[in-house]
Amino acid sequence: MKSVYFFGGQVAEGKADMKNLLGGKGANLAEMVKLGIPVPAGFTITTDVCTYFYENDRAFPIDMENQLKEGMGKTESVMEKIFGDTENPLLLSVRSGARMSMPGMMETVLNVGLTSKTIPALIQKTNNPRFVYDAYRRLIMMYSDVVMEKAAGIEPQDGLGIRHQLEGILEQYKAEKNLKTDVDLSSDDWIKISELFKDKIEKVLGSSFPDDHYEQLWGGVKAVFQSWNGKRAISYRKIEHIPDEWGTAVNVQAMVFGNTGEESATGVAFTRNPATGENRFYGEWLQNAQGEDVVAGIRTPHPLNESTKTEESKHLQSLEIFLPHVYQELDEIRTKLEKHYKDMQDIEFTIENGHLWMLQTRTGKRTGGAAIKMAVDMVSEGMIEKETGILRVKPAQLDELLHPSLDLDEEVKTEVVVRGLPAGPGGSVGRVVFTADDAEEWVKNGENVILVREETSPEDVHGMHVAEAILTAKGGMTSHAALVARGWGKCCIVGCAALNIDFIKKEMRSGDFLIKEGDWISMNGSKGLVYLGQVSLKSAEPESNDSYRSLMDWADEFRTLKVRTNADSSEDSKQAIAFGAEGIGLCRTEHMFFDPQRIVEMRKMILAENENERREAVMNLLPYQREDFMGILEAMADKPVTIRLLDPPLHEFITLSEEQIDKLAKELNITAEKIRQRINSLHEFNPMLGHRGCRLGIAYPEITEMQARAIFEATAALKNSEINAMPEVMIPLVGSYMEYNNQEKIVRSIADSVMEETGITFDYLVGTMIELPRACLTADEIAEKAEFFSFGTNDLTQTTYGFSRDDIGGFLPDYLGNNILSHDPFQSLDQKGVGRLILMAVRKGRESRKELKFGICGEHGGDPASIEFCYINGLDYVSCSPFRVPIARLAAAQAVLENN
Ligand code: PEP
Ligand code: MG
Repeated sequence: MKSVYFFGGQVAEGKADMKNLLGGKGANLAEMVKLGIPVPAGFTITTDVCTYFYENDRAFPIDMENQLKEGMGKTESVMEKIFGDTENPLLLSVRSGARMSMPGMMETVLNVGLTSKTIPALIQKTNNPRFVYDAYRRLIMMYSDVVMEKAAGIEPQDGLGIRHQLEGILEQYKAEKNLKTDVDLSSDDWIKISELFKDKIEKVLGSSFPDDHYEQLWGGVKAVFQSWNGKRAISYRKIEHIPDEWGTAVNVQAMVFGNTGEESATGVAFTRNPATGENRFYGEWLQNAQGEDVVAGIRTPHPLNESTKTEESKHLQSLEIFLPHVYQELDEIRTKLEKHYKDMQDIEFTIENGHLWMLQTRTGKRTGGAAIKMAVDMVSEGMIEKETGILRVKPAQLDELLHPSLDLDEEVKTEVVVRGLPAGPGGSVGRVVFTADDAEEWVKNGENVILVREETSPEDVHGMHVAEAILTAKGGMTSHAALVARGWGKCCIVGCAALNIDFIKKEMRSGDFLIKEGDWISMNGSKGLVYLGQVSLKSAEPESNDSYRSLMDWADEFRTLKVRTNADSSEDSKQAIAFGAEGIGLCRTEHMFFDPQRIVEMRKMILAENENERREAVMNLLPYQREDFMGILEAMADKPVTIRLLDPPLHEFITLSEEQIDKLAKELNITAEKIRQRINSLHEFNPMLGHRGCRLGIAYPEITEMQARAIFEATAALKNSEINAMPEVMIPLVGSYMEYNNQEKIVRSIADSVMEETGITFDYLVGTMIELPRACLTADEIAEKAEFFSFGTNDLTQTTYGFSRDDIGGFLPDYLGNNILSHDPFQSLDQKGVGRLILMAVRKGRESRKELKFGICGEHGGDPASIEFCYINGLDYVSCSPFRVPIARLAAAQAVLENN
């Protein structure tokens, strides 16, 4: 087995399409070498080794040591340095690199190879003892934390890890000597601190820091493989659905230093702006610093160039001005990389004494808005095809554009509490919490929270995920947690330098403002502004965004599935049309009965003594229903509108308090006792499987009659005003053709009566919801008469799995945690089980009626994976909530492109 792949000089054994084996970082380092870009030499240990490591009790393949030494030999000869040498020592970095980027979720060890033997040589070579001892103490800190504590599985006492304890020593040392920042420490200081560190490590961890270069290297490699199963890597994988089996590769690479002096620097950049998508080279750099300083957000970085400076960064020096030659070389690499990869790249670089080295390139994470702009721009620039442009935007990224922002009128009148860097756009309002665990706890209790932290740390990933938004006092736009937040489309502001946070008291100050835990704040993530209190949120207007419009037009060109909406008011219908809905796939009628006047009639109906009384009460609802349908059918003129007959169990209408019972008794002139009796008689042990759906219309045909009459009278009246209403009457929860036939007969006879009474003819369809397994099994019989099937996948999932749709929350976390389910089947269709039933229903339905129309109207109609399933299996349309319509349009186009 080949375990080690070398890269360096002009030669690389790997290439970009070997990500599965070499991880993203390793594959791209190899590719950059092939492109002639300056990359420090090194080698990648494959993800197969990671798998082997876990399958073989954390041992390495037998031949790996030889291969590693061979890779080392090549690295040494390209870099003209020797690992562990006492004259010209090579130092190494050891980094993780999985197939998909997992920013900051795994471990890194830098400066490997510094020992009592190599230190004097390096001092002699660099003539810079301060730099060497600073590097040494960084190695000690990282190594003790990553290798000696975390990888060794040592649980820190009182939660205070070795790294914190060493940081404590450093802080105390500085305080005693009255030194303000690390820059003020001399080489003698760092020597003393290194000794203090080593003593502490021995005391706390019970073993001493290794002084052998190969021992350090093997320790580092092992620790990085182990970090694949570290807590934060595991929780990130869960959230991002990254399989546990993938494993990580390990990249061992020659160290280059951005902290050797004035002409040294380190930085992170994007070939286009990841927040806005603008085609400008965008990045951050720090003079005389190591790469970790930028991503960890300890110092506020400088802008890369003049054109991307902002109000907040205008006083900081850009690399473009400070080292123009290096900037130019970097800019050329930017162009080369973008041309080669045909996508925005996220790059890391180090400048060592004026010499530029590239440390990483990968496809950059971006906001939804940026993803759309870049995709559309790259198509116009001729860089990619339209099809690729459509596939570039994840449907969920549209969500961000459809998401709210702060109301500008209110915002300008509100005083800014603090300013920071706009790391993730959009507006957000929530209550302040100061720890990730608190965020999780509060959200569980139904609160909207904003997570406030000193600096962004990957340890917070669980809290960041549940929070509405993230706010930090330190850090830059490229700090890893800002990347993560942006990838999730969360509102995020970082680097609010004026914030003073007290984590013990759980409060923060900015100037005269004091904000305590639980206080409301509002954030404008597009501008980096934070306000006290709740500023109103305004809904998004994606139509004003040109790139969005182009992308959606292209999606419409390619997709074949129609996209309808679930809407039950004329307002929602209008909103959905603005988002591109082509009709209504589900108009639920139940909520229409809850208006105070109507509910009285409804209750009268339920409490009626005989059919006459019941009919009278139901017919009192007719004018209201007619008005409802007029509004919706008119808003949806020329578009099909599927109206579902009443579905919920009757008892939902008479869930009453004692007080309400007394009031109702007076209104209806009957005794309270009688109402109580009726409530008791309607009680069901299993209402979801009880008297609901078409069972209502079968027991109380006058409900079906009234609803059908309201629909058809509205249709006739609109037709009379030359408005083309296209109703489709849908019978819910049918399990046998006998049920369907019973209801259909009523609907059709009412249609005939209305046509006769009004003298107006109109078209309509009658069909059914397929939401019970039996309906799928006998779809051929139902399709004898039904003109359309709409899959009600909420109930179909419930009845197929036997999971209560209202109670799954109680056990879903255990199912996900134990990998029994990979996702919530109520969100994304269970294709294996429920999907098979759908397939059977489609096949059997078409057997009986070739032109039968198929749609889906459960929550899954707005889920991209489920939409692809619907496309592959020949459905005609999907229906989803208005705000998911654009997502469904894009997903439907992607389904075509991905499957042809
Ligand atoms: C369904 O069951 O999938 C459906 C759309 O109907 P409801 O959610 O109203 O039960
Ligand atoms: Mg249903």
